[in-house]
Amino acid sequence: MRDKLIRFMQGRYGNDQLNRFLSVACMILLILSMIVKSGIMYYVAIALLVLQMFRTFSRNIPKRYAENQKYLAMSSKVRYAWAKKKNELKQLKTHHIYRCPGCKQKIRVPRGRGRIEIRCPKCRQTFIKKS
Ligand SMILES: [Zn+2]
Repeated sequence: MRDKLIRFMQGRYGNDQLNRFLSVACMILLILSMIVKSGIMYYVAIALLVLQMFRTFSRNIPKRYAENQKYLAMSSKVRYAWAKKKNELKQLKTHHIYRCPGCKQKIRVPRGRGRIEIRCPKCRQTFIKKS
């Protein structure tokens, strides 16, 4: 069975970032279509699923690769912003993020130090916050 699968996938494109995006979008649309009972959303979700299957089993590897590169280029800003946001959320567990009242610079302060005086590294203004 495993051998058969490997043989079947030989020379076929397989998975990539664009396909992962398509499957996530498909799942979200499927769930949404159930909540709002939208037939159109359901068909779009199925269309995305079919497109993803088509890309996975496609033998036109250069073309699929080019599509993925295009997707990566188009989504790079979003993915970068997302990664930044995620990193910020992770830091919130151990740090507070304050904005300097003088210059609005974001300042990261470790949590659990009680009331502390913070000096802005940019404009040297100091302010008191609870960490
Ligand atoms: Zn400042």
